[in-house]
Amino acid sequence: MRTDHLRFGWVTAIALMEAACSLTAQDSPRFSSVQVLPDGDVSLRLAASVGHPCRIDVSANLADWTGLVTVAGSSSVEHLDSAGPYFDVRFYRAEQLVDPSSFLGDHLATSAGDAVMRPLNHASLVLQWNGQTIYVDPTTAAGPFSSLPKADLILITHSHADHFDTGTLTTLGQDGTRIVAPAAVQPSLPAVLKPLTTVLTNGGQTAVLGLVIEAVPAYNANHPKGSGNGYVINLGGKRLYVSGDTGDTPETRALANIDLAFLCMNQPYTLTVTQAVSIVRQFRPKIVYPYHYRNQNGTLADVNAFKRQVGTDLGIEVRLRKWY
Ligand code: ZN
Ligand code: ZN
Repeated sequence: MRTDHLRFGWVTAIALMEAACSLTAQDSPRFSSVQVLPDGDVSLRLAASVGHPCRIDVSANLADWTGLVTVAGSSSVEHLDSAGPYFDVRFYRAEQLVDPSSFLGDHLATSAGDAVMRPLNHASLVLQWNGQTIYVDPTTAAGPFSSLPKADLILITHSHADHFDTGTLTTLGQDGTRIVAPAAVQPSLPAVLKPLTTVLTNGGQTAVLGLVIEAVPAYNANHPKGSGNGYVINLGGKRLYVSGDTGDTPETRALANIDLAFLCMNQPYTLTVTQAVSIVRQFRPKIVYPYHYRNQNGTLADVNAFKRQVGTDLGIEVRLRKWY
């Protein structure tokens, strides 16, 4: 069974390369290799023009295409498509983008166009959606921010220094920036940012800039209950969960209809890998990114073990990205 799947995968891969070449014959980028790996992930390699962002799209039928990722142009682009195990046939094409400042990151289709997101560092991430730039827990370590857009919305999960940095908030702020934060953070905000801030307590929600933000309790022995929020970001019909720093809680296990999740796992502060696996297999996000996985002693949690143990039987795609 497994072998058949792989053999079929290889045949598919050849078709992908032919399709990609014919679709992009007049221009770079060009696929040099499309390889189905033993775990079903698909390794993509292509050559694209340096300085020109390149978007890779996917299709199951060569008719309907969706964005997969926008990457910086280089002569040796590499991308791992971890949705590979869930498709018998998957086609790829790549396109050079005209706008050199196109936002780089993974795509998620929504009813208002793609959300594009990428890791910055540790607990910090950024996404663009519907012309707006949204940061979660931006800190100095995630910078420099000179090449990134100013913030339309900033979500702060709690007051610890790896999540909350007033200097970075000031740097990213512009006219109209909105901030969502738990009450415990508000006293530490610079006076200029306080009027921009909506305080959300655990279980609360607010509508801002066309999104609805829900605050999910985030707590454990290192994080008193009520002091921190995880967030569910509702945008364009999709639900994104960002855990913040949490332990194994019933509220996290009870999350429903999550399309994409960022889940913490580091010791001794948040989840163990084993807990994270168990939680994910219970609430079953369609896609999950391990994040916040540097341990106190400087080592990194074993995110490859997390991916193996989540498995593919429940249809959960685990995306491993470079956070450090
Ligand atoms: Zn913390
Ligand atoms: Zn933290």
